[in-house]
Amino acid sequence: MPQITPQPGIMEIDLYVGGQSAIAGRRDALKLSSNENPLGPPPAAVEAIAGAAQAAHLYPPTDHADLRAAIAAVHGLEDDRVICGVGSDEVLQFVCQAFTGPGDEIIHTEHGFSMYPILAHMAGATPVKVLERDRVVDIDAILAALTDRTRVVMLTNPGNPTGTILPPEDLTRLADGLPENVILVLDCAYIEYAEGHDGGAALARARDNVIMTRTFSKLYGLGGLRIGFGYGPKALVDVMTRIRQPFNLSGVQLVAAEAALRDRDWAARCVTLNAQQRARLTGTLRQLGIACDDSHTNFVLARFADEAEAGQAHQALLDAGIIVRRVTGYGFPEGLRITVGDEAQTGRVIAALTDWRKGE
Ligand SMILES: *Cc1c(COP(=O)(O)O)cnc(C)c1O
Repeated sequence: MPQITPQPGIMEIDLYVGGQSAIAGRRDALKLSSNENPLGPPPAAVEAIAGAAQAAHLYPPTDHADLRAAIAAVHGLEDDRVICGVGSDEVLQFVCQAFTGPGDEIIHTEHGFSMYPILAHMAGATPVKVLERDRVVDIDAILAALTDRTRVVMLTNPGNPTGTILPPEDLTRLADGLPENVILVLDCAYIEYAEGHDGGAALARARDNVIMTRTFSKLYGLGGLRIGFGYGPKALVDVMTRIRQPFNLSGVQLVAAEAALRDRDWAARCVTLNAQQRARLTGTLRQLGIACDDSHTNFVLARFADEAEAGQAHQALLDAGIIVRRVTGYGFPEGLRITVGDEAQTGRVIAALTDWRKGE
């Protein structure tokens, strides 16, 4: 009997495990496990979605021209170097699929996004994990891991779940150290929360081998709609566009993303709220003797004494109706990743952890 065999790499894929989203028997559960915006979707996007629903019988535009123009205007980029995807995940998939295959290596870092090895295997390529140093990406370790087979280096900046960030000069040093045929991908899903950073836009503009990816899932409150984009050299964007399905984004996605992006006041409010509550949460954790680095994102990585203590804190939070993310799979058995909520939500986390510390 002829055997049906999957393409190389596919059977190496460990299915992606998302954050827990419910607690059995609890209606007031607070989900702080997936770094979602506590304010929900921007009202302008909700209105745009309602409008687009009326046109659901029409195929959407294939060129994403309006959304790309909005991205270019808001971020000061060139619209012909922007490519939009079903979440930034799809843009990362375009990179892997278009530029790697069996025999090629894709470097990712120790605590990087668990999608990177999945995307590498989907393309038949080999993921290569490079260690970080004290929860910060280690440029020298990446450069030391380069081989003739390296095609892509994937970096999350700021990091998830670490929340740490590399300054622009480190990114430049990394780019300088890469051969011209190796693509550097800067996954900037959280960059809006890191004040004063351009996410590598300038680097992606200046180099022939640097791509920046961004998402509407975090700051813009549209994780459920799946929209992201990449910005990079036109030659690479043109290659990726060939494997992008013409109708990958629906009309609803396109107008919602554009409306969210154009509401700068709303985005600024979310950044401010996040900065306030992040500082409050970080301060409380440290007062309670729970270690955490300064975060440049919308979450905080709380580090407990050990795995057992993290488990106890996790359970105490669940008992209080709060869902956070265990990050054992990201190399932190002693850690809990807590999304920064609004004032009341952060208050709930603080109260639950304080009670747990007091043994109540
Ligand atoms: C959330 C996140 C993304 C965004 O993915 P989307 O597909 O755009 O929702 C990308 N990278 C990292 C590291 C993330 O945490």
